[in-house]
Amino acid sequence: MKVMKFGGTSVGSAERIKHVATLVEATEGKKFVVLSAVSGTTNVLVKITEHFRKNQVNEATIELAALKDSYQPLVDELFTSEDGKVKGYEIVDRYLGEIKKLITQPYYPQASKVIVVQGELISTNLFYTYLKEQGREVALVPAMDFMSLNQYGEPDMPVITERITGILKERKETTLVTQGFICRNISGGIDNLKRGGSDYSATLIGAAIQAEEVQIWTDIDGMHNNDPRVVEKTQPISKLSFEEAGELAYFGAKILHPNCIIPAQKNKVPVRIKNTMKPDAEGTLITSEQNPTAVKAIAAKDGITAIKIKSSRMIMAYGFMRKVFEVFEKYKTSIDMITTSEIAVSLTIDDPSHLSKIVEELKPYGTVEVDEQQTIICIVGDLVAEHKGVGREIFKALDEITLRMISYGGSRNNISILVDTKYKREALISLNDQLFDF
Ligand code: ASP
Ligand code: MG
Repeated sequence: MKVMKFGGTSVGSAERIKHVATLVEATEGKKFVVLSAVSGTTNVLVKITEHFRKNQVNEATIELAALKDSYQPLVDELFTSEDGKVKGYEIVDRYLGEIKKLITQPYYPQASKVIVVQGELISTNLFYTYLKEQGREVALVPAMDFMSLNQYGEPDMPVITERITGILKERKETTLVTQGFICRNISGGIDNLKRGGSDYSATLIGAAIQAEEVQIWTDIDGMHNNDPRVVEKTQPISKLSFEEAGELAYFGAKILHPNCIIPAQKNKVPVRIKNTMKPDAEGTLITSEQNPTAVKAIAAKDGITAIKIKSSRMIMAYGFMRKVFEVFEKYKTSIDMITTSEIAVSLTIDDPSHLSKIVEELKPYGTVEVDEQQTIICIVGDLVAEHKGVGREIFKALDEITLRMISYGGSRNNISILVDTKYKREALISLNDQLFDF
């Protein structure tokens, strides 16, 4: 069985939804289709929840009405029969109507969780109804029936597996359609897998059913070897290992949800990234195979804050790091990069919401310096010691740039360099010229 996940732009219009139906049809065997919300919908839903929280019912109602209007041409063009159109409008009315009811009540956080997932309910119901109208053999499987989180807020793999296995026994249709993003939390309430979480839904399903392959259909022809918004002439990477893809997904290659590699990697389910608009393009295949190209890709992550703690008490001391780390743990702030010397430690965070409190609590341990607006540049590949000279090439490329931190050796797949964001463009272009010869 294959899992085929289509992102928001892939289902962004009637024409695209029809195209997705053709791609699904052209795929042999049984398939589990996972859909995102129509592009832009979740953003609007998030806005609505913000108005709702601030008790701005009017603003929320206006956003909602505009959202509803945006579905008119989609429904109208998608269905051929009058009956189909009626069903289509009914779907949009039903789920957006749900939101309308909620926003007129006093705010409560769980209502926001219900609001943000309505986009996936709409897209999957429309797609399912369209396939039915086309006379296809299809079943709609609600994600809420199987996608569960455990007490730590993480996907509960044993439960998910058991439930999907049960569903597959009952459902004999060749095409199963489900919502990405949506799940239930430990109390059974509606929840989500965070923004961009449909990729994660797809690989969780893929892992649960031990799928032949998980296909992530998006609007770019695979993971690129550099950021196409900054560098010209980037190229799709045909093969990546799970480790490399994981590093890239976290470091700014926004194509994949950063967590989505984990279940695929654990269960050795290959992940293939494909371009919905160019289905013949090879895309990127991610497997457990290591392939020997030294440098595969460069990625950058902005919005990084660097924190340096300098203290002579670090010399020959033990337990110092633990105390420092405990401060970050207390504020549930994860550390991305870390470098140390005998008297100082520098680390980076990408969530500065508790920065001032963290800095206050670090002060007893030494002098604390903070640099904001930093960018992590990450060079990904099979960077083992046998590949001599890679370091030299990298530093040659960055000759003119002030480097704030360098981290190598954390894994065999990554060298991370922290620079001020103002040097990012120059760094990416220069690395591209130095490391890839086209
Ligand atoms: N619709 C959700 C979002 O926009 C989930 C997804 O598309 O992956 O974040
Ligand atoms: Mg996405």
